[in-house]
Amino acid sequence: MFLYYTIATLSVLLYLHGFFPIPARIATKPKYNNTSEAKPHNQKAVIVIIDALRLDFISEETTPFLAKTYKNTGCFTQLKVETPTVTLPRIKALTTGNVPQFIDIIVNLASPTKLDDSIIHRAHARKKNIVFYGDDIWLKLFPDHFKRSEGTSSFYVNDFKEVDDNVTRNVKHEINRTDWDIMILHYLGLDHIGHVFGPKSPLILTKLKEMDDIIEEIYNNSKQTLFIVTGDHGMRDSGGHGGSTFPETNVPLVVLGLPCKNDTFAQIDVPANLAVLLGLDIPTTSIGQLRSSLLSHLSLSRYLEALKYNTLLLREKTDLCEESIETAKHFHELYLMNKNEDLGNNAAKLYRDCSKKISERLLKSSVKQNVGSLFVATAMVGCVVLKILQKFSGVRTHHAHLEQVAMVTVLVVQFLELFSNLILMIVTSVIFLRNIVRFNLKHLAATTDLSFLTIVSVLHPLSFLSSSFLEEEHQFWYFFAGTFVSFKLFDEPRSWVLMFATIRFLRTINQVGDKWAAVPDLADWLLKRENHLFLQLACVLALSLSACSSFMLTKRKCMFIVDVLVLFLIYLYRMVVNENVVLGQVLWMLILLKFFYCSVRGHGLLPTWLLIANLLLKPYNLILIPMCVFASQHFHRALKAEDLVMAHWWMGNLLFFAQGHDNSLASVDISAGYVGLSNYEPALVVPQVLCHTYALPVLSHLLLFRNKQIDTNKCLSLFVMFRSYIIAVVFIVTFIHRHHLFIWSVFAPKIFAEASHFGFLFVEVSCHYLSQTINKFFI
Ligand SMILES: [Zn+2]
Ligand SMILES: [Zn+2]
Repeated sequence: MFLYYTIATLSVLLYLHGFFPIPARIATKPKYNNTSEAKPHNQKAVIVIIDALRLDFISEETTPFLAKTYKNTGCFTQLKVETPTVTLPRIKALTTGNVPQFIDIIVNLASPTKLDDSIIHRAHARKKNIVFYGDDIWLKLFPDHFKRSEGTSSFYVNDFKEVDDNVTRNVKHEINRTDWDIMILHYLGLDHIGHVFGPKSPLILTKLKEMDDIIEEIYNNSKQTLFIVTGDHGMRDSGGHGGSTFPETNVPLVVLGLPCKNDTFAQIDVPANLAVLLGLDIPTTSIGQLRSSLLSHLSLSRYLEALKYNTLLLREKTDLCEESIETAKHFHELYLMNKNEDLGNNAAKLYRDCSKKISERLLKSSVKQNVGSLFVATAMVGCVVLKILQKFSGVRTHHAHLEQVAMVTVLVVQFLELFSNLILMIVTSVIFLRNIVRFNLKHLAATTDLSFLTIVSVLHPLSFLSSSFLEEEHQFWYFFAGTFVSFKLFDEPRSWVLMFATIRFLRTINQVGDKWAAVPDLADWLLKRENHLFLQLACVLALSLSACSSFMLTKRKCMFIVDVLVLFLIYLYRMVVNENVVLGQVLWMLILLKFFYCSVRGHGLLPTWLLIANLLLKPYNLILIPMCVFASQHFHRALKAEDLVMAHWWMGNLLFFAQGHDNSLASVDISAGYVGLSNYEPALVVPQVLCHTYALPVLSHLLLFRNKQIDTNKCLSLFVMFRSYIIAVVFIVTFIHRHHLFIWSVFAPKIFAEASHFGFLFVEVSCHYLSQTINKFFI
């Protein structure tokens, strides 16, 4: 069976590869140049990017200097930001004027490669001296473009102060120097506060005031300078970013030192306008439009010249609008001959309409999926589901090895794109149909008991056909878990009432989804400064219950003492010493020692995993761990074998959402990856983030396998089958909706969420198989 799981995993990778292709490069040789001889309005420019700056963060109360000054000599623009609202793709949009691919999120975690063209390249080509301080992503995107620079790492989210102090220290030196033309600053502190405490924290106000003061200081020390203050993306109401809610996708753009008007436009329009303002060439990558609100100080002939230049540049990328551009050029020439303003305005309108049309078209068609890969991957996952079902129903498979080899070959060949899509699609269809024909539904129906939870699990992925159900998936799990428990109330009211109350309580801890995520929840209440005592109490209660449950599971006094010690240190770590790095490392060491001890004694992973979960979970979520253990105890007492397996499967999924996750990237808590670390080490941060994300599903699986009567391999097959089935439906749904308006904001993140569920389950299954093999080898 393991080979089939591997095939399913390969198929998931193939789908990702086909859905998020790596974009082709665009030619970088400029065909048109900015030929204007006129001097730009501003000699110098200061561009300040405040990471995760929300629209409502700029106001008279929060940033008094900025708010007052733009009203006198500048303007305020609401920038529309594309998803994914993650730093790297947004920096690319701000500098290249193009929408980067969704794949950039993955690249964001790895290291970014340098860009081919951007406003920075254009400034550099015109011999402008650029200085840069802030997020070191810039240094990787633009190596050797800066005269002076210093980068700070953006991945250590618990640092609110030093990242910004490093930037400000350099700014103080630069103010006194006169040899730079463009200064770019990228401040990270605000984003970090958002990740850890959310946008309502009092620390946000302090940080905004700090930013406001710095900008005031630079402003007072520079003359004839264009100031641009903006955010790369916003911040969702619950903190973090990556999704598509309004506060994430709308950021302010404050311009100082230029007569301009308030407006609303897209983030990708920034580089083209900036190029015109600074007298630079527009980057060839740009698909943005020029905005009259920013260029109102130009004379009509200068404005027309700039419009013509940008429109011709856009026209290079598509064949739209040919006739109108010719007409516009004609009006433009007539205007230049007899200076009739009406003709000039007509030309400007035609240029603007054309560039709008082209820009919108380019934005829509920026991604092209490989349909062959999507088809092959979906059908292969479908085959694996059928295979597992065949195994459950006891159907013997002939030539299994031959078929496995064929499946792997098709996947690899499709991945490398060696053959035409059509041939591989036909081969895949043959394999799939062969499995369908051999499938014996009657036999399967006769050999399996259909419990309520099984039926609901089969119906569950069908809800994804509606994008709202996708965003609010947790509602499905809560509702049917509640329904299941209420059926049980008829049999045994006393013991199940408590379970019912537990499910109700789970909903209050973290609000997730799209529509109600901002509604205050228990976690928000506990995180308020005035409620710190209650947070302490909740933490102590949860850790004590965890100690009890650990004792209940192992019944060993010496282990119990070690557990109490570790849990006490976890309390100190979270509540007393402010997540001290050394204590974090000590805790990991103790947990590792316990892991080795348990492995040698054959106690399995469960006792260690309990401690790992306690170490990684946020204090307000700790209560979920003993809840999970006690619920499992209850299931073991009260349920039959089939229901027992499904109940644990449901509990794992339910707790995943109860912990504060949903189908958006923004709900993944990156700050959980830094226990015992003081800087970004991908090899240590990524596993910690993953263990934190899947702590509770894994815990409920381990609690199930504790029962010796349960066939672990069969359960794992069942779990893999349900995951494969869900992901196959998600694949089909996203394929159907690939031109849908919500494809990048709702469906694409769901593919990522499901792929990572699947990937983590595969790791879990591999660990089980590995430990079984080792046991067989030694015993
Ligand atoms: Zn950012
Ligand atoms: Zn961030």
